Amino acid sequence: MTGIETGLEELRRQHPEWEPWLAVVQEVLSECVNPEWDTLVPSRSESQESKVPLLASITLTLERRSIRRLLEKLILIAHRSGTPAMASLEPAVHRDLDLLNLFKASLCQDRDRLRDIAAYLGADTEAFQAVAALLPVPLLHACNRQWASARSVSWTEGYCPVCGAWPAFSEVRGIERSRYFRCGRCGSEWQARCLFCPYCGMTDHNELVSLVPEKSGSNSVIDACKRCLGYVKTFTKLQGSPAPKVMIDDLATVDLDVAALEQGYKRPQGAGYSLDVIVTDNGKALRRFF
Ligand SMILES: [Zn+2]
Ligand SMILES: [Zn+2]
Repeated sequence: MTGIETGLEELRRQHPEWEPWLAVVQEVLSECVNPEWDTLVPSRSESQESKVPLLASITLTLERRSIRRLLEKLILIAHRSGTPAMASLEPAVHRDLDLLNLFKASLCQDRDRLRDIAAYLGADTEAFQAVAALLPVPLLHACNRQWASARSVSWTEGYCPVCGAWPAFSEVRGIERSRYFRCGRCGSEWQARCLFCPYCGMTDHNELVSLVPEKSGSNSVIDACKRCLGYVKTFTKLQGSPAPKVMIDDLATVDLDVAALEQGYKRPQGAGYSLDVIVTDNGKALRRFF
C-alpha cells in the first residue's frame, strides 16, 4: 500500500462521514500520475523570473475531451454522495459549458468567475467551487514534475513558484530543521524563511505567534500573523511528503484549521499571484464565456 492509500484509509477510519469527498480526492490523486497530463505541459527553457510563478503568462493548449473526462468523473463520484449540494452539480455534465473557460477559472483560482458559472448551472456555489478547484490539479502536478529544473532555487516568496497558490502548510524537516512551504494544488515545495508571514510579508517577531492546540500533538503548530490574521499550519517531520500526499496531509490536520479559525485567523481565499494564463484548444483562444 502506498503512503497515499494508507493516508486515505486513515482518514476514512477517522472521519467516515467524509467518505463522499475522499472518493473525489482519491480520483484526482489517481489522475495525478496519468502521463496524459505531462504531454500537455509546455516545455520551458528560460530561467524563472524573480517573483513570477512558472505558470504565469503561459499558453496552454488543452483538449476538451481530457477536461470533460475528468470533470464528468469527479461530478459523478460527488453525485453519489447523495447530498443535495453535490447533486446540484449534475447539470455541469449535461449543459453546454465552455470547458476551457471553466478550466482557466479553476487554474487561476478565479472564485468570482466560478461563482458565475455555478449560478449559470444552478449549482450550489460552494460545492461547485470545491470540485472545480480539483479540476486543474493533475495538470498542475504534471507542471511541477516537468518544470522541476526550471525552478528558481532562490525562490522565497509566500506563494507557490509553480502555480502561484498560497501554501497549504509548511514542513520543518530533519535535524537541520530546514523549513519548506508546500503547495496543495501542484504539490511543489519551496524554501520558507523563518519568522515570515507568507501572506503580508511580516517579519517582526512581535507580530508573529505560534499557537499549539491541545490535541494537535507536539509535531504540529499554527503559525499566525497578528497583522493580516493569516495562518499556516506547520509540521515537524523527518522528510517532506511526496507531492500527491500534500492534499492528504492538509485534510488530515483539519483540526488545526478549526483551532485557527476559532482564534480568529484564516487562510486567504483566491490566488497568491494573479496568473494570466491563456487556455486554447488546438491553438485557438476561445472568446465565449460559457
Ligand atoms: Zn503550486
Ligand atoms: Zn501577515
